[in-house]
Order: sequence, then structure tokens, then C-alpha cells
Amino acid sequence: MANPTLLILAGDGIGPEVMDQVVRIIDWYGDKRDLAFDVEHDLVGGAAYDKHGTPLHDDTMAKALEADAVLLGAVGGPKYDDLDFSVKPERGLLRLRKEMDLFSNLRPAQCFDALADFSSLKKELVAGLDIMIVRELTSGVYFGEPRGIFEEGNERVGINTQRYTESEIDRVARSAFELARRRGNKVCSMEKANVMESGILWREVVQKVHDEDYPDVELSHMYADNGAMQLVRSPKQFDVIVTDNLFGDILSDCAAMLTGSLGMLPSASLGAPNANGHPKAMYEPVHGSAPDIAGQGKANPIACILSFAMALRYSFDQGDEATRLESAIEKVLADGARTADLMGPEGGTPISTTQMGDAILEA
Ligand code: ATP
Ligand code: MG
Repeated sequence: MANPTLLILAGDGIGPEVMDQVVRIIDWYGDKRDLAFDVEHDLVGGAAYDKHGTPLHDDTMAKALEADAVLLGAVGGPKYDDLDFSVKPERGLLRLRKEMDLFSNLRPAQCFDALADFSSLKKELVAGLDIMIVRELTSGVYFGEPRGIFEEGNERVGINTQRYTESEIDRVARSAFELARRRGNKVCSMEKANVMESGILWREVVQKVHDEDYPDVELSHMYADNGAMQLVRSPKQFDVIVTDNLFGDILSDCAAMLTGSLGMLPSASLGAPNANGHPKAMYEPVHGSAPDIAGQGKANPIACILSFAMALRYSFDQGDEATRLESAIEKVLADGARTADLMGPEGGTPISTTQMGDAILEA
């Protein structure tokens, strides 16, 4: 049987800079032990536009659909700001998400102890935090019809529609329960069933999936506004939170800020299982292409490396290696390694993207 494949799309701005550090880690593994998957590289975003006149070539799309996982850096930058909407770098990313049908967006909020002890950040961060927000990514109010701005009498009205089918709720609930079994075995589902019909259906379907197929997982339900409050007041009560597209957008940003810099945050977007039983998957740092620091060797590569660790865990059955990588990151942070984004007002000398890569490889 052929090896599974990881398709790397480094993209634009700091994307290639942070991805280089992942490639060094993969190469290091190549020398030490077999990771048992093959790596391919291709272009996305502005980089693809420069070469092909489109932010995602059809061949690249086909490769992404065949790959066992895609690892993406970042897309976009000022150079492409004036391009027509249809060929903007971001369209490449959206096409990947859409055609791979990545309906379940995993956003971990995990706080590294070394940063929580860091004096300037101490007040805002939550030491020991380790939660996962599962956000429905392909439906809900961002996509529901009717939508638009319409004339109504003598004024205009802006309309969006929150819409969820049973099957859309069912599949994202399953992905949350599966995930919980590999973590703390606890799911909290958030909606507003008190004021929204879609929330009533959401709660009902999540409960049904639980009772029928995941009775071993502890399930609770919360109104999303209460959930937001609880997330700020006592976030450690949560393990996995599953919620819709809109609430997930807000709650995952909120949870992320309990953990430190944008340069530290990975994500995964998962779809339906493929032939080998693993879901279609794309992994990417939460941050963008950061044009303000691109090309300066300053970017923090940890978000991208942690995204690769998620790929090891969820797509390649290499959870132990993922944990080893995360421990190496924990160690270098504890030893004081800091890229510029992790420096507090008290100052110090930041290290470069490559030096952070060196330190992690060494650890
Ligand atoms: P997008 O629209 O693609 O989400 P954005 O403009 O919201 O992009 P980013 O490109 O993520 O945001 O950048 C936001 C800020 O965070 C910038 O000042 C950027 O330099 C900083 N930043 C983002 N990622 C990193 C990183 N890996 N290391 C250091 N700083 C980063
Ligand atoms: Mg942004």
C-alpha cells in the first residue's frame, strides 16, 4: 500500500517562513525514524496567482482532495489587494475548505505554563488551560438563504438566515464526541435554544447522537451567552465545546486570548472520513500572512508547528510524536526562548524564526 501523503501549501507572507521550520522538523524525523507518510509541496494564494493566474490551480485542488492531510501556512498580502475578488488569495483558501467540505473546525485553546508564568502576561492568561472548541464551519447564518440587503417600503433591510439541517448538526456533533473520547471525555454544546428554532433543533440532535452512539461521553448544554461568561470566568470546567458557525467564531477567539499570542495558535478543519477512516483534513495556524513582519525572520513558527502536531495526531495516528513535539515546545518556552511576539514590555532580546526552529529541534 502506498504511504499516506501530507500536502504542504506554504502560501504567502510569513507562511513560507514558518513552514520552513516544519519542513526542518520533518527532515529531522526523516533522519531518525520513519514517519510513514510522504510529503508534497504546492502553491496557494498569491504565490499560486503569480505562477498560474489563479489562487488555487485545479491540479492543486485535486492533490488536496487526494492527500490524507493538507498543511497550510497563510495566504494574502498587500501586493494582491487590488486583484479582482474572484482571484484574491483568500479565494484559494475558501475553495479548499468548500470542496473538501471541511465542516468541523477545531480550535484548541491551550496555555503553555511557561507563558502563563511570564510576568507581563500573567494577569490575562490561564495556566493549565486545555480546551478544544469545535465550530461548525460550512453552514449556519453565514450561508443560510435568504440573505442580502433588500428594499422594504421606504427603507432597506439587511437579512441573514440561521439555518441548520439535522444532518449538519449530526455530523459536527459526532466529530466533537469522537474528539472528546481522545481527550477528557466531556462535551458542552452551546446554542440559544431559548430564543432560536435552530438552537432547539441543535440541542435535540446533539442529545440524540449522544444517547444513541456516545453515551459514555459526559454531555451538557449551555446557552451560548452563559457559555461566553463561563469561558471567561472559569474556563477550566470545559473540555470540548461544540457550537455553531457564528457562536464558534466568537467563542473560539475569546478562548484563544486566554492562551497568549496569535503566533501560538493552531487549528484543524475536518470533513467526512475518507477511505482510510480518517477525516479529510486541513491544518493551519490561526494567524494570517502578517505582511507587517513578513520577510524579516521575526515570525513565531510555533502555531504552524502545533498545526503539524495536530496533523500527526488526527490524520497520521502519531499521537505520541505529536505529544513529543508539544513537549519540546513547552521546554524551549520554559528555557526562555521568545520570538518578538512573546516579549513583554519588560523587554529582552527576541530570537528569530529560524532560531526558534533550532531550539525546538534541539529539544
Ligand atoms: P488575516 O486577515 O489573514 O486573518 P490579519 O490581518 O487578521 O490576517 P495576521 O496576519 O494574523 O492578521 O496578523 C495580525 C498581527 O499579528 C500582525 O501584527 C502580525 O504581525 C501578528 N502576527 C501574526 N502571526 C504572527 C506570528 N506567527 N508571529 C508573530 N507575529 C504574528
Ligand atoms: Mg484575521
